[in-house]
Amino acid sequence: MKGETTKVSVLVSLFNWMQRSKSSAKKRSKFRKFIDTFCDKTDYFTAIRLILPSLDRERGSYGLKESVLATCLIDALGISRDSPDALRLINWRKSGSTGGVNAGNFPLVAAEVLQRRQGMASGGLTIKELNDLLDRLASSENRAEKTDILSTMIQKTNAQEMKWIIMIILKDLKLGISEKSIFLEFHPDAEDLFNVTCDLKLVCEKLRDPNQRHKRQDIEVGKAVRPQLATRVGDATTAWKKLQGKEVVVECKFDGDRIQIHKNGAEIHYYSRNFLDHSEYDHAMSNIIEQNVLIDRCILDGEMLVWDTSMNCFAEFGSNQETAKAARDGFDSDRQLCYIAFDILYVGDTSVIHQSLKERHELLRKVVKPLKGRLDILLPDDGLNTSRPPGEPCWSLIAYDVNDVERFFKETVENRDEGIVLKDLGSRWDPGDRGGKWLKLKPDYIRAGSDLDVLIIGGYYGSGRRGGEVAQFLVGLAEHAAPNAYPRRFFSFCRVGTGLSDDELDAVVTKLKPYFRKYEYPKKGPPSFYQVTNNSKERPDVWVESPEKSIILSITSDIRTIRSEVFAAPYGLRFPRIDRVRYDKPWHECLDMQSFVELVHSSNGT
Ligand code: ATP
Repeated sequence: MKGETTKVSVLVSLFNWMQRSKSSAKKRSKFRKFIDTFCDKTDYFTAIRLILPSLDRERGSYGLKESVLATCLIDALGISRDSPDALRLINWRKSGSTGGVNAGNFPLVAAEVLQRRQGMASGGLTIKELNDLLDRLASSENRAEKTDILSTMIQKTNAQEMKWIIMIILKDLKLGISEKSIFLEFHPDAEDLFNVTCDLKLVCEKLRDPNQRHKRQDIEVGKAVRPQLATRVGDATTAWKKLQGKEVVVECKFDGDRIQIHKNGAEIHYYSRNFLDHSEYDHAMSNIIEQNVLIDRCILDGEMLVWDTSMNCFAEFGSNQETAKAARDGFDSDRQLCYIAFDILYVGDTSVIHQSLKERHELLRKVVKPLKGRLDILLPDDGLNTSRPPGEPCWSLIAYDVNDVERFFKETVENRDEGIVLKDLGSRWDPGDRGGKWLKLKPDYIRAGSDLDVLIIGGYYGSGRRGGEVAQFLVGLAEHAAPNAYPRRFFSFCRVGTGLSDDELDAVVTKLKPYFRKYEYPKKGPPSFYQVTNNSKERPDVWVESPEKSIILSITSDIRTIRSEVFAAPYGLRFPRIDRVRYDKPWHECLDMQSFVELVHSSNGT
């Protein structure tokens, strides 16, 4: 069978060609030619899953991001961890003496290292063999096994082929062609079918002949559906204009995990936005769903959050996994998972996405019995929504004019929510759509009382365009100094990179460059006047050698502060952004920890 024997080298030629070509039409026709010539009609999936790796759900995750991949490759190549090539892989973002033009692009850095060890000749690996190796890589549980598999791959390929395999593992091929175009070239109904099934294998199997149209398929319980998404708008007036003449509901934009719940009797699935099945929610949620979703078969669309029973409010973003794990391990906690259903897509044996949102709201009301702090529904507050006790924040209402939208937005933001979503009550739910039926309005950067003047204590190298150059900073807060004394210690506080123009960023980096000291892997820690935690995420690539040499940045942030487990300061900021560089302010006038904590408490009302 021709698909079985097609070599990886042929696929790699296609990739190289597509990457070089500027014309989308030519990329498409080359892709068509490839699948017609080198794939068997009965098995397009074997090749297409390698061309669209981010859509392939047949194998689990590889558990290999760049840093782990670097150590596995070092071991697979059998090179010493402190050799220049190993350091090159570990420090792939950096340029400098061992660096080069590829800094910031892991596959290119890896190809550079591999080139010195692999021959030019292809090892003759077939696409089928590559898929088998990738299956093994995804199912292997430890690094030693992964290293072995990578070593086999290296033996059977050359550096060019290995570079593309690394890109497949990282699920980003950068071919300069959209997934939409690939689908369209494959079959005119491919994208539609993928959107309602999230199943690439099925798409490849059902749509073998591009001339034979496929009857539009509806969604099914048990098959993840590509979520409908929102378009961002700048302000309430623009949003209102876009929805002119429509009946509009405004809803709170909850900040959790977008989850589709598929209930089929006792079988319940939790599909994420990327169509992964989050079975870790099973333990904590499935009883609740079984008992309070009053119908055997349905699909709910909504947000999974964490409810804090002691504070009587939702917990900060990012605690879902921890809470699910605590529930599974039987730990006592004030925190529990809570699902907010804002839509319903399937009821009984019928898809209801073609009905209006208003009708779906009615269905939601009938199907879901709210249970405070565990399961709720997001319905407009028209007096019928009995789930909300008086005095609690309103999550949803019908807007009659732009002032209603403004007011709701202001209230939501004051309540520290993420923003609002405006929806046309007459609209259907479209899989994978971002066409403007849902509009999101988010606060840009709300000042945390005042700007926070923080000191740069370290730097992180960027990737891509800023590869090899510091592109982000680790900033710190000062200890509370004795009167008339300068602070002597600084606590790592947050990582910040956005807000400055390229020129402004260059100017700061140039000024600090003489004082940057590399954090030597794996030995040397930070200078003694910086207080950090043991969390490796806060290890910058360079430290500023002493605070007196550094510069203060004014940062603004989302007003919500989150308890920080990564940095030494007890709270971190969400979406921090540099407002300006304070060349005018001496280093010792940096905000101190005590004042910051007071600021947090006053803005939290505690
Ligand atoms: P963001 O980064 O702003 O959260 P996003 O790229 O994740 O946006 P968008 O389509 O822009 O996704 O915004 C929709 C997301 O907002 C949904 O995926 C969902 O997770 C979340 N969300 C929270 N509350 C609602 C709501 N009431 N209605 C729809 N989506 C909501």
